[in-house]
Amino acid sequence: MSLNSSTAAGEPIAAEVVIVGAGPCGLFQVFELGLLGISAHVIDSLPGPGGQCTELYPDKPIYDIPALPVCGAQELVDRLMQQIKPFNPQFHLGQEVVHFARREDGRFSVATAAGTRFDAGAVVIAAGVGSFQARRIGIEGVEPFEGQSILYRVKDASALEGKRLVIFGGGDSALDWTLELTPRARSVTLVHRRAEFRAAPASVAKMKELVSAGRMRCFEALPHSLITADGALGGINIKAPDGAVHALEADHVLVFFGLHPKLGPIAEWGLDLEKKALRVDTEKFQTSLPGVFAVGDINTYPGKKKLILSGFHEAALAAFGIQHHLYPQKRQFLQYTTTSPIMHQRLGVPD
Ligand code: FAD
Repeated sequence: MSLNSSTAAGEPIAAEVVIVGAGPCGLFQVFELGLLGISAHVIDSLPGPGGQCTELYPDKPIYDIPALPVCGAQELVDRLMQQIKPFNPQFHLGQEVVHFARREDGRFSVATAAGTRFDAGAVVIAAGVGSFQARRIGIEGVEPFEGQSILYRVKDASALEGKRLVIFGGGDSALDWTLELTPRARSVTLVHRRAEFRAAPASVAKMKELVSAGRMRCFEALPHSLITADGALGGINIKAPDGAVHALEADHVLVFFGLHPKLGPIAEWGLDLEKKALRVDTEKFQTSLPGVFAVGDINTYPGKKKLILSGFHEAALAAFGIQHHLYPQKRQFLQYTTTSPIMHQRLGVPD
């Protein structure tokens, strides 16, 4: 299983199936296709698999997964990753799918913002509530600095060594990066809008120790305005609860205000939508465009419930629909994993 097999240049990657979204339903789709001998490429805008489970509630217990009386959300994702391993899916993570088109020969062109292109026989949209985007810092004039000196994600921590850093946020990402970067940066200032933090108590305690030791600073304040000189970022003004504005020097401003989902480009792909969800049939979970299927939270049909369990069922039936779409001559049999030699072979189960 390859966790980042993308090549941005060259020919499009020929794929039997492209799955947009590596949430629990996209991952289980890999499994159901794999049982039928169909391989998949999986794309997600997030840097890791797991969708909402990993991004929004990794440590929370889930109680309604069949045969697992209780299962942590991240644990569920880890188990799904283990379950799909025999089928060797190719992951393309940290890449938003921005382009989709049906070609004249009935196949599909799919492309990501990073420039990776696919030539796919079928597409499954398992995009949940949309692609997760970082919440931006809401002050004037930030656009030219975003991705340069104002960062919503740290891709290369070594680029921040020896720099003056101002970090915004009160959750785990803000605290984890504060603790990680304080020993390596020239200075670190953490700014949070409240005195209470959402991050793990142990991280908050460690941060407070660093403040007491004079190794970093922490302020309760909101971002106010940028300090710039000759087109370069020089720092940021923050506004304290008493209304006073203070200037902080900074080479980089790191913003961890969490993520919010955006349906984004999927809304423009010409597929039938109902209240920001893709209309599907309940036989194959196919959208209004033959060859394009939708499973999980992104789809809608009479009686739809946005549950992981429902998405798993949808993925099982979609796999048969996809097999028929790709190989219409092939006769379909229902086989049990318990007894099917071909499924055992695909799963790598020893005889
Ligand atoms: P998601 O998990 O939303 O994953 C979709 C993925 O698609 C995301 O990773 C996103 O980045 C990616 N994506 C979207 N658009 C693009 C694009 N254009 N390009 C690339 N990638 C894209 N359900 C239960 O059954 N039981 C529970 O107990 C339960 N508890 C919950 C608790 C909380 C706090 C929350 C928020 C939800 C809970 N749910 C629960 C709901 C459950 O998490 C969802 O039903 C499930 O995650 C849907 O899975 P999915 O794979 O359809 O979508």
